[in-house]
Formats: sequence, structure tokens, C-alpha cells
Amino acid sequence: MQVLSVEIQSKFSSLEKDFFASDFQIADKAIEYAAQWNVFCQAGKEILMTRGYVTTTRDGTSYLVEPMIRYFEKFTSNNGWIADEKDVGWAVLALEAFSHYTYHRSGGSLIVCDLQGRHLDNTRYRRGGNSKTRFELTDPAICSRHRGYGPTDLGEKGIESFFANHVCNRFCHNGGTWASPRTQRRWFEASQGTSMLRSTMTHLLDVNNRVTFTIDLDTIDDSDGSGDY
Ligand SMILES: [Zn+2]
Repeated sequence: MQVLSVEIQSKFSSLEKDFFASDFQIADKAIEYAAQWNVFCQAGKEILMTRGYVTTTRDGTSYLVEPMIRYFEKFTSNNGWIADEKDVGWAVLALEAFSHYTYHRSGGSLIVCDLQGRHLDNTRYRRGGNSKTRFELTDPAICSRHRGYGPTDLGEKGIESFFANHVCNRFCHNGGTWASPRTQRRWFEASQGTSMLRSTMTHLLDVNNRVTFTIDLDTIDDSDGSGDY
């Protein structure tokens, strides 16, 4: 029994490590795209993407520590849900444009999504020497064609679902034309919460598998009738 419990524990902590690793991999990629966006975006629409760190207590438990953002709002999810402009204002349009930009910039291989945080308007709340007006965002997700960004990466179906709900706005394109996927389809019932898929089900994210998903990621439709999962 003792051995079994040790095995379970070590398995658990290695899973934990994987989880933290994918979180950092996502944050680092998102930070990279935010830095590029910040070069050309309208003044005050810059994005500061926070990155947490792992701390381990004396008993060996690891925690992910993320900077706390007050007055936090959820603007988009990873399943195609986009907040209503009537509720959150123009900020959601700028962040949708950022997701669209990441698609274009990555050559159509991914989108940075699941954007949450706040728009800090220091022209109203000026304090000290810092008058920077910008977005402060935390804990994004990435949907990618190769599904390499952990359990919140909803793959091509996540990308197509975002574009099925996104209407290009004044923050998109920067005077040029940004690429968009040819196929845009709502594969998920859009919900504000972040959607995660068990690793045994990730093959269902291939667009050749016509299955669509409910909010809790049960499959609801298998239009090619293969049902091989
Ligand atoms: Zn757009």
C-alpha cells in the first residue's frame, strides 16, 4: 500500500508539472505576440500579459502564483464566446482584433484567446510617474492547428469557432488585410467559462471529425456518423 501511494503521488506531481509547463508556454507565446501588437496598435490599446511563477512550499506542494488583477473582466473565451460590446464596451473589440492579429501573424497556425483582465485607464487614475493606459491580461489560452498548448487548446475547431463569432472591427487590419480561415464554424456552444478537453478526446478536435460540442464538452453531434471514440 505504501508503495502504491508513493507511485500515485509521484504521478500526480509529474502531471502537475506538465500543467504548469503548458501554462508558461502559453503565457510566453502570448507575451511574444503582445509585444508585436504593441508596436503598431492605437495608443492606449497596448497589452501587458502577466506571467505567473511556481512556488513550492516546505511540504513539497507546488502552487502557481499569478499576479492579481483587480476589476477583472472576461472578454473572450477559448470556445468562440465573445463578450457583448454593450456589457464591456470597446475593449472587447480591441481584444478580438488582437486575437485576429495573432492568427495573421502566426501564418494561420494559432490564435491567442481566452482574454481576461482589465483596461487600465491611467488618464483617469494617474498615480506616481506611471501614466500608461493599457490592457492588463492574465491566463490566456492558445488554440493551435497542432494542438500543442495543453488542455485548453481546442485546435482548429477553436480557431474556426472564434472566427465564426468575430466580426472585423476598427481595430482589425491596421490598414492592410489580415488573413482569416476559409472555414468558420461554431463547433462549440459558446460559453464564458474556459473549455478544457480530456487528452483522450483531443482527436475529436480535428475538423475532419465533424463532431460538435456542448458547453461541458460532451459531444452533441457527429454528422459524419463515424462515432469512433
Ligand atoms: Zn478581425
